[in-house]
Formats: sequence, structure tokens, C-alpha cells
Amino acid sequence: MEKKCIGVDVGGTTAKIGLLSVKGQLLDKWEVPTGKAENGKHILPDIARSILDYLKGSGMSAEDLAGVGIGVPGPVMPDGGVEVCVNLGWENVNPAQELNRLLGGGVYVKAINDANVAALGEMWQGGGRGHKSLMLFTLGTGVGGGMVLDEKIVSGFRGMGGELGHIVVNFDEPLQCNCHNHGCLEQYASATGIVREARRALEASGQPSVLREQPDFSCKDVLDAAKGGDQLALKTVHHCMRYLGLAMHYVSHMTDPEIFVIGGGVSKAGQFLLDIIRQYYEGFTVMGSRRAAIGLATLGNDAGMYGAARLILDREAED
Ligand SMILES: [Zn+2]
Repeated sequence: MEKKCIGVDVGGTTAKIGLLSVKGQLLDKWEVPTGKAENGKHILPDIARSILDYLKGSGMSAEDLAGVGIGVPGPVMPDGGVEVCVNLGWENVNPAQELNRLLGGGVYVKAINDANVAALGEMWQGGGRGHKSLMLFTLGTGVGGGMVLDEKIVSGFRGMGGELGHIVVNFDEPLQCNCHNHGCLEQYASATGIVREARRALEASGQPSVLREQPDFSCKDVLDAAKGGDQLALKTVHHCMRYLGLAMHYVSHMTDPEIFVIGGGVSKAGQFLLDIIRQYYEGFTVMGSRRAAIGLATLGNDAGMYGAARLILDREAED
């Protein structure tokens, strides 16, 4: 029987687990709750038990696996160690070693930061399919990022590679970002940032806007209003995506990716949003040959699971 790979995307509330073929076909998926009690010490045992139960129930064993990849919501050091993971309560945990032990010691396990594995997933089976070098910007509550060059995740020396949301794009921002810096990309290109910028625009002028009639408007409301031709909303979206275009321009000059993939809730605005992003990215990136393609992420919340499974295949190729 052809070996299978398992991809685990450990999130703050659940861990998504997927069984995939080595060709990237998702065969099955399920979730287990992330039990964060006692500094998250039950998380890996719960995942291991769930995997072993699944294998047993499907007439498989650990020998049928090419390996298990895990995406972790925090920085993962090059040796696979996690010094601190606030989202899970972990301190000095080596999830790959630990999960290998819990699975009986014979299974290859590899762990990488979740945003980076999502980028690898999008490259393998998502919006970046067919490309080898890709940058993923995930525009959600915050802005996440992931970097894949030549089919390899770039995690960097401290596991911080691909932290694209905290590239500073505005020196003059008075408000502080969650990271304590001022003017990070995340302050504009996230759903939270777009809503805040729309509020600022409303306060700064008396310009009519449909948003004035919705005191608790969401990012989707701003994007919908912009699509519908509301000038204040449209100006806000342009203002925010201009900063994203600037960050993409910086990244392009550093790593020259083939494609940028835009994911997260904000990206549901689709082609409308991509056209605005492209306008600014291309405006900043005057050397035409340096311009990358721009596409939408297609795997949604499954991207991390796909990417985690894909981690295993590098090892298969090395053997
Ligand atoms: Zn920041």
C-alpha cells in the first residue's frame, strides 16, 4: 500500500488533522479540541491518541505513514523546538520529538510555524499550485505571512521568517500595533485595520457614506460598500491596500517570488480586491520584470493541514 501522510494544524481551539496521499489528495479530515489546561501539556497526547485511534479504526498502523507534519501557532526554531507559544501555553516543548515518542517512536514528525505551513499548502494544492516560490499574506483579524522559496519554507534563524504582518509601512502612525511597534502592515491590511481606517475616515470628514448608518460595521461591510461604489469606503480600501502593495514591493525586491497569494477573511472580496492590490504593487515595483503574479488562496482553513502534510515529502525525497 502506498504510504500516507498526516498533516496537523494546531490552532487555539482545535487541531485539524488530515490524512493525505503523497500526491496531495485529502482522503479524510477530523478535528480534536485543543486542551490548553496545564500549559497545554495534553495537546500532543490528545493528537497522538486521535491519530492512533484513527489508524486502528481504518485497519492501518504507524508503518503505513510516511510521516506526520505539524503546524504550530508560534515561532518554531530550526531544531523543531518551541521556546514559547503563547497561543498554546507551551514553554520549551519540542512537538516533533514529543509526538514521535507518543506515536511509538517509529514515525517521522516535523513541526513548523503554522503561517509558513499554510504557504506551503497553498503552493502544493492551492492558489499557488504550479509555482515553486510563493509569498502568502493572510489578511484576517491580524496579518499573517508565509514564505516558500524553491519549494522550501523559509523559517529563518529564530523561526520568525515570513512574519510579514509586522513590516513597518507607515512611520507616522500614532497608534501602537499589538507588537508594540507603530505603523505595521497589520494595522491597515487586516480586517481590524480596515474597519479602524474606515472609522478614521468617517471622523475626519462629513463625507456621506452608507457606513454612517451602520454604527457596528464590519470589514465585510466596508468592502461591500466599496464594491457598491461608496466613495469613502472605496478610498479606505485603496488607502489600506496601498500599504499592502508597498510591503509586497519590499518583499519582491528581497526574494523575487513567482506569485503572491492573498488569503484570510478579507480576501473573500476576491478579484475586486486583487485589482486594487495589483495597482499599488505594480505602481511601486517599476522594474516590470520583478513583478510577481497575484492570486487568491483557495484552501481556506485547510491550508495549514495540507502544508503540514507536505512537510513530510521533503524527507521522502531525501531518502
Ligand atoms: Zn506590529
